[in-house]
Amino acid sequence: MSLMVPTQLKINGPLSAALPDQAHADAEDLGGQRLRHVYIETMGCQMNVYDTERMLEALGKAGYVPTDSAELADLAIVNTCSVRDKVEHKVASLLGVWKRLKEFNPDLVLGMAGCVAQQEGDKLLAKMPHLDLVVGPDQLSELPQLVEARRQDQQRLAATQFVRRQDYEFPMPEAPEDGRATAMVTVMKGCNKICSFCIVPFTRGREVSKPSAQVLDEVRMLANHGVREVTLLGQNVNSYGKDRNLPGAPGELDFAELIHQVAEIEGVARIRFTTSHPMDCTDALIDAFASCGKLMPFFHLPIQSGSPKVLEGMRRAHGVDDYLAKIERLRRQAPQVALSTDLIVGFPGETEADFEMTLDLIQKVRYATLYSFIYSTRPGTRAADLPDNVPMAEKKRRINELQRVQDAITAEWMQSFAQRELLVLFEGPSRLQQAGPQSKLAEVRDLRGLQVMGRTPENIKVNVASDDLSAALTWKGRLGRVRITTVGQHSLQGELLGWAE
Ligand code: SF4
Repeated sequence: MSLMVPTQLKINGPLSAALPDQAHADAEDLGGQRLRHVYIETMGCQMNVYDTERMLEALGKAGYVPTDSAELADLAIVNTCSVRDKVEHKVASLLGVWKRLKEFNPDLVLGMAGCVAQQEGDKLLAKMPHLDLVVGPDQLSELPQLVEARRQDQQRLAATQFVRRQDYEFPMPEAPEDGRATAMVTVMKGCNKICSFCIVPFTRGREVSKPSAQVLDEVRMLANHGVREVTLLGQNVNSYGKDRNLPGAPGELDFAELIHQVAEIEGVARIRFTTSHPMDCTDALIDAFASCGKLMPFFHLPIQSGSPKVLEGMRRAHGVDDYLAKIERLRRQAPQVALSTDLIVGFPGETEADFEMTLDLIQKVRYATLYSFIYSTRPGTRAADLPDNVPMAEKKRRINELQRVQDAITAEWMQSFAQRELLVLFEGPSRLQQAGPQSKLAEVRDLRGLQVMGRTPENIKVNVASDDLSAALTWKGRLGRVRITTVGQHSLQGELLGWAE
């Protein structure tokens, strides 16, 4: 399961009847090609963020320019996630809002992409008469043609077929022109595991690894455009290459080899990856944290529960002891590595004793941070057949307790950075800097002055004050030596001592 990230590109403000005239006056001919606007709302994990970028690129070639408001769009797409219950509700209410936009702009095409789209397919068209297009993750490169088909012949469409493994082609992303310091690189899609609570194998299909040469070409291209840090992405990223290391697939790398090869690329200063499965966590991958200086010391390794019985019910294919043995090896080889994990509370049949085992586990491992979720039944998963028999009040009590224990561990870990000198890769203006004049953050910014955001090797955000107006631009992509002056709950404040290169 991938890490959840905040929703992107939100609609701000109420719908306005005055908007369409102005907005669609802009949708005019531009050198013979009609310029149209696309708005994409992205939910869920980093894979969806990556897919949104690919959709925007494909649509860009067809004359669409991105807008940050659905009210100004000729095409509005919600890129969905079905991992959490609440996200599905959010999709339904968002589409209810967008439906009203069609009253002002009858040419507006409404689309749904991502995991909910894949899972529900044409049932969504039946449920939502205002939805024009449903497109699954394997069909994203066809998006411009599908939208055009909808515009031309008025047929509502659901394109959710999986492409056969041997025919699947990963699109090559366009070179970023925004001077970004960090980038994500999808190295594989799909998941062959069958965790009983998870819908991903049904919505993303079987594992397909991107050819190693293509991954390396993509990283080279990014490095040539100023990217210093790459995050290798996959639903189950450390099984990379298993499907390619078959007879007849010479020259392909496994995941640890891929990391070492990426590290050879000039310009790449840092490598991260997400998300891993303990079963595919090989000794070679663990050892890479010790032997590859560019692999950053932060490892997200989901375990989901500290109870062997619950793990069995989850069909995780690993136990607690073998998980802990991997952690032990990691700590022996590379003690500097900070760990994080995912945990689910209230899985069917989880008793108080099972939950206590999870608490014991986090005390034992002492994760730097963790992501905890209350179990909810996801239709279509194997666990949906099990009775969801832990009462909600009990689930809430357990998650609060879990978070209370973890917060204390995280606070102790964060305090260990006080007054230390760290290497920080700067990414650009801090969130404070980007806040609009109406934002509450603007007040904080006025107090703190200019802030440039970077990250430590352990992936903690650090804000550094600067009196140089253009610092945000000139620091971006540079590694600075920073002394930590203030420790917050989840971020740090520091002062720049000098440059590391
Ligand atoms: S490893 Fe398990 S939880 Fe992660 S994506 Fe695959 S099935 Fe889902």
